[in-house]
Amino acid sequence: MLEIITLTLGPVQTNTYLVADSDTCDAAVIDPAWDGKLILSEAQSRGWRIAHLWYTHAHFDHIGGAAAIADASEGPLPLVALHPNDHELWSAGGGGAFFGFAIDPGPKPTIDFYQGQILKLGNVEFEVRFTPGHTTGHCVFYVPAAKICFTGDLIFADSVGRTDLPGGDWDTLENSIKTQIFTLPDETRLLSGHGPETTVGQEKIYNPFVGEA
Ligand SMILES: [Zn+2]
Ligand SMILES: [Zn+2]
Repeated sequence: MLEIITLTLGPVQTNTYLVADSDTCDAAVIDPAWDGKLILSEAQSRGWRIAHLWYTHAHFDHIGGAAAIADASEGPLPLVALHPNDHELWSAGGGGAFFGFAIDPGPKPTIDFYQGQILKLGNVEFEVRFTPGHTTGHCVFYVPAAKICFTGDLIFADSVGRTDLPGGDWDTLENSIKTQIFTLPDETRLLSGHGPETTVGQEKIYNPFVGEA
């Protein structure tokens, strides 16, 4: 069964999602924002093993905890997965220098995300949806069985990701939201990179940036 621990971490209050199949104790971290040791101890206290780090995108505030997780992990290093379009951003430390944060990006991504890819965590399946606009390689992860989507910095409750940073593009972002988020069932919970959770139905009505019409 899917379990989700939400941790809000780092200098810009990024949501890290520690996800696991509690039946098999396989765990992944969606956006290990900061404080890798804390994320790891949350997993260890539950008997979970972090086998994967999944990045919605490579901004520094979503990957800043990866190095500490890898350094403190016992056994095999977690596998890092990212869309190839964000590899350059990853190599540049996630653009953190621009904001005054030089980070160690941690282990190199070795798994490339693509549209429609199925990620397995124990018996739980996550579907990768390619959603550029905030960055050129941004992806979201949808769990059909639980009707939950991890949306990174694509869409937030009553807001959307900024498009003024390198690689950002408004029309592309809007298209990603309309084709990859608003096509999900209305009751789908959206767990985003910053701020509280929302739902598809809620955002279709109230999002001031991207209306359904
Ligand atoms: Zn971002
Ligand atoms: Zn962010």
